[in-house]
Amino acid sequence: MSDKPLYVGFDLGTTNSAAAVFDGDQTRVVRNSQGSNLTPSVVRIDARERVTVGAKARRFIERDPANTHNEFKRLMGTGKALEFPGPKLTRRPAELAAMILASLRKDVEDQFGFAPIRAVISVPALFELPQSAATSEAAQLAGFERVELLQEPIASALAAGWSAEDDGGAWLVYDLGGGTFDASLLETADGFLRVVGHDGDNFLGGRDFDWAIVDWAIAKVNARDGVQLSRANPAHAGAIRAIKQAAEEVKIELSRSAEAVLVPAGELEVDGQAIEIELEIDRGTVETLCGGLVERSVEVCRRLLSQHRVEPGSLDRIVFVGGPTMMPFLRDRVGSMLGAAIAEGHDPMTLVAQGAAIYAATANLDARPAELTASKHRGRRLWLQFPAVSSDLSPHVVGRVVDGPGPKPVNLELHRGDGLWHSQSTAVDHEGGFVLGVDLLPRKSNVFKLVASDADGNPVPVDPPTITIVQGVTISDPPLSRTIGVALANDAVRVYFERGTPLPAKRTFTHNTVESVAKGTEDSVLKIPVVQGEYDRAHLCRLVGTLEIPSTEITASLPAGAEVELTLELDRGGRLSARALVPSLDQVFQEVAHLLVPAADPEVLQAIAETMRARLVTLRGDAFRNGTPQMLGALDRVEQRLAEVEGDLEATRGGNEDAGQRARRSLLELDAELEQVEQVKRWPELEERKVRTMTWASACISQYGTPREQKLFEEVSDAIDRAAGEQDPRELQRQLRLANQLGETAWYRDPSTWEYLFEDAASKADSATDLPLAQSLVREGRQALARDDNQALRRVTERLWRLLPADVSTRRQSFDSGVR
Ligand code: ADP
Ligand code: MG
Repeated sequence: MSDKPLYVGFDLGTTNSAAAVFDGDQTRVVRNSQGSNLTPSVVRIDARERVTVGAKARRFIERDPANTHNEFKRLMGTGKALEFPGPKLTRRPAELAAMILASLRKDVEDQFGFAPIRAVISVPALFELPQSAATSEAAQLAGFERVELLQEPIASALAAGWSAEDDGGAWLVYDLGGGTFDASLLETADGFLRVVGHDGDNFLGGRDFDWAIVDWAIAKVNARDGVQLSRANPAHAGAIRAIKQAAEEVKIELSRSAEAVLVPAGELEVDGQAIEIELEIDRGTVETLCGGLVERSVEVCRRLLSQHRVEPGSLDRIVFVGGPTMMPFLRDRVGSMLGAAIAEGHDPMTLVAQGAAIYAATANLDARPAELTASKHRGRRLWLQFPAVSSDLSPHVVGRVVDGPGPKPVNLELHRGDGLWHSQSTAVDHEGGFVLGVDLLPRKSNVFKLVASDADGNPVPVDPPTITIVQGVTISDPPLSRTIGVALANDAVRVYFERGTPLPAKRTFTHNTVESVAKGTEDSVLKIPVVQGEYDRAHLCRLVGTLEIPSTEITASLPAGAEVELTLELDRGGRLSARALVPSLDQVFQEVAHLLVPAADPEVLQAIAETMRARLVTLRGDAFRNGTPQMLGALDRVEQRLAEVEGDLEATRGGNEDAGQRARRSLLELDAELEQVEQVKRWPELEERKVRTMTWASACISQYGTPREQKLFEEVSDAIDRAAGEQDPRELQRQLRLANQLGETAWYRDPSTWEYLFEDAASKADSATDLPLAQSLVREGRQALARDDNQALRRVTERLWRLLPADVSTRRQSFDSGVR
């Protein structure tokens, strides 16, 4: 065991998980107790509650499927609990993930002599907030004190970039795992690695290759034996599982050899008839069966490239990650379809874990527990701040002399380990502070000795005596991929973070409750829904969590209009936390409830799919009448995917929860797409809104806006013209929102505004939640009006607003939001 820091990274995969460490110099993949680099993400719990994970558990998928669970990463963040009938237990996906992590953590301990307490865990780029939250929870359950999450493509890129020669240009990380596909476009320049963009398909992976082979096998068997073997029939689940396992085995075998034989283990029975399966299969067949899936992945890559205006031929290299990329035909096909060279020499199965370990160093997450990091050195203690990994060749070390034994150092120097460089001697200032510039050897781990001396030039021992800085590629934090805000009772969204916001990020806004909450009433809860999406209307966005203020927990009743200060915070991995302060109660609430992906109930999903069909028919009719080919193309795509969804629903009814989740997601995406088409249909309406907003806002701003606001308005106005020119409804809505905000700011400076707003609110005072208070406010407002006191009028009007009830049906649509 060394006294150097050790950084640990985990790839918590759908199919396989891996651990790697980085010592500042090299990455090493951690072997498990079976001597393997990979630990299958499988957990079995037997009747005596003994937990088995990894390869040993994997063997039980066939023998004891009821008590053996795999692919639970796909259910992370859902409310689904997985049953283990043997020990009569249920476990949530996060708890199972924790068992895998605990096992990997033990492997690190066996090899390095201590259990890591800090680490980086990778998550798919397309993970939503609830899924990330579940991953963090798993880490906590596995005993980690602190973890950071890192998007998998970034981890791969970091690991691949680490050993790559620095040559600028664009490259693509193609990560095809067991169940997810991620394509990421990256750029290196001056040793700085940047993720330009990513795209993917959360439901495309090696597993679909297996199913393609299974379907082929089923067709063969049905034709030969005259049976009705079907994936949708729950009674056939056992046989299908056995065939799937065999399909995966031949697929892997065919990565190495030209032919293989598909033989499911055990005896198969279909509707009382014993069947025997032994099918010869060759590479050509697998290529034919899976060509479409590869095509689909390349389509995603093309979309990503074109979105970032990278010509197909100008891609510098492709980094392959994930098991299926071991298939030679896949590498060839993807390489030639995208016309780029393939980065060789990386292990596609462990690259992600290695990248996560490297990232742990950049994030300064030393895995060692306190007793190992406690210094054994004697001398004056120095507090130091410097990058553990630096892309800059000459970073700075900032420090301060704190306490400790021995004489106080007056001068300091840094000596590089190779003896070829040392810094100038720097004087410690009267507060004990100093700054030293260092010179790094590129792509190396640089050790520096801290040489201190007293006023007479005599050496003085300091603690720590050395520091290490690694020179290499670093990455910038990934920006937020989707806009996040709070759903308001009127179905509007208060945006907290726009898409593209650099992470971490934190913002606070003040809201007002729309109704009173009586202390102690059962079932009365004030809800603050947090939503994700680019839409103006809350119900079109996706609910990602609800912060609840239960009436049973408040110390006093809350009147309608009470202030709630809400703070939303996102960490570097996009994990959300929320905190609500109610100043009148001096109470803080931070339980975010239901940070869950909703369960996939096939009946509910079926109903949604049917509504969608109906919408599709209407839109198709419109498109024909108006002759918009662009719209028809989009509708064709939706129709095609809706058919796929219906297939998935069929499989869901056969007991495939995963297909249900895929259907649920697809439906959400299709909903957004149809919404987009409907917006195209409503384009004239949007144009009209544009004209109205701009006329109104420009009048307000030219009269009451500050020069800065006028300048901003010009920029927004340009952006609006651009969005209108490109017929991009989402961007247009977003920009109109900004124009509206600017307009309002100016408008509120107009004295007659508040007179108008007051009269409007006063006319609705009869329906106020607190009638006597509303009436007294109206009187107060009239007096203010008579005195020409605009300030007071504004205060009164704002208080009146808070007493006006929110429309019940709108509120229900807006996830029952209790705030405005
Ligand atoms: P995940 O990231 O989902 O954990 P992996 O990267 O470990 O997934 O990939 C698992 C998938 O890779 C499985 O579908 C497995 O069948 C497939 N796989 C593993 N090795 C090979 C191989 N040599 N050839 C083809 N597919 C492979
Ligand atoms: Mg993976």
